[in-house]
Amino acid sequence: MNVAVGVQTDVGRVRQGNEDSYLLEEPIYAVADGMGGHIAGDVASATAVDVISEGIRSEHPRDGSALADLVTSANEAIWEKARSDPALRGMGTTCTILMIDGEVAHIAHVGDSRAYLLRDGSFRQLTEDHTLVERMVREGRLSAEEAANHPQRSVITRALGVDPHVQVDVLEEELSEGDRILLTSDGLTAMVDAAEIAGVLGREEDPQAAADRLVELANAAGGEDNVTVLVLHVEEDGSPAPPPPAPARQETRPGAALQVDAPVSAPPRRWVRPVVWGVVILVVLAVAATVTVRWVLSNSWYVGIGSGGAVTIYQGIPEEIAGRSFSDVERTTDITEDDLPESFKDDLEEGKKVESLEEAELYVSNIEERIREIEESTEPPERRRRNRS
Ligand code: MG
Repeated sequence: MNVAVGVQTDVGRVRQGNEDSYLLEEPIYAVADGMGGHIAGDVASATAVDVISEGIRSEHPRDGSALADLVTSANEAIWEKARSDPALRGMGTTCTILMIDGEVAHIAHVGDSRAYLLRDGSFRQLTEDHTLVERMVREGRLSAEEAANHPQRSVITRALGVDPHVQVDVLEEELSEGDRILLTSDGLTAMVDAAEIAGVLGREEDPQAAADRLVELANAAGGEDNVTVLVLHVEEDGSPAPPPPAPARQETRPGAALQVDAPVSAPPRRWVRPVVWGVVILVVLAVAATVTVRWVLSNSWYVGIGSGGAVTIYQGIPEEIAGRSFSDVERTTDITEDDLPESFKDDLEEGKKVESLEEAELYVSNIEERIREIEESTEPPERRRRNRS
């Protein structure tokens, strides 16, 4: 297959800097949406693109699992940088990477950037968002409409660089002549609805014009976030019909990571490091009025192990003061102490403090995901087959 590409990226109307990066090394394309404040988000997404770009040249990936390996290497590189430089701590990035091999598109994906396919007028999201709201929709706790306007809709449950391990989704899609693929950061999808995006992709023949138009629409709708789009138009090799005019950027530009103005202010963090309340709260309890104490308790959350041995979300604080407990059970999860991966045990025994109920749910989601990963990697093949039948 032949591919004509259009690409556009923009800081948007609100942010000070562009923390998105993209990669265009035919036949591999990627978008990465960095986060973490100050320069960190920028570093995270650019590192992802650089590591992947180097990997493409040294490993010559041929399938989805090879792409996933590149994403895993990028994760390790970002994690290492974040660990060794306090200014970069907490940074992370999404990554959606697509490779066209013959008539197949291979995709590896982490986070809430998206790949879409427009074919014969039907527009379909290929990737699944790794977000808190997406999970809540799957579990039947939110409707799709509620999710679209949820205040926590940008909280992601998976990203590169926030943990030494990352689970990478791998997908495959057969391609047909005339297909249009869109890779995009959430700066487009949060601002412009799917029908309007599909309309532009269907109408604008030139992929570059389509990419430019999509960015214009995101900005016209408020441009609340950085926006990056890659539009791919798929044609048969040697197709007699002339391809839509290809932009100059179609030429391979190894490691093409966009670095726009250095950010001067931190964007809102999508995950927040838990604040250590212990000492502060002891002092507050000693000196403050009851009203203050109540306020603190109603705004404090932690995840711990309940009396029945189940992982439990509490409102309040885990510390007992003078033999008195200052917490209420918010939700008891299905995870038992026996299921808990070692890496979570110490935190949970002490009570893992978080800043909101949403963050507590995210933490529980991460535990569930790790348990699934461990199960998948330790399950003997016979049992896997049995479970499927
Ligand atoms: Mg974004």
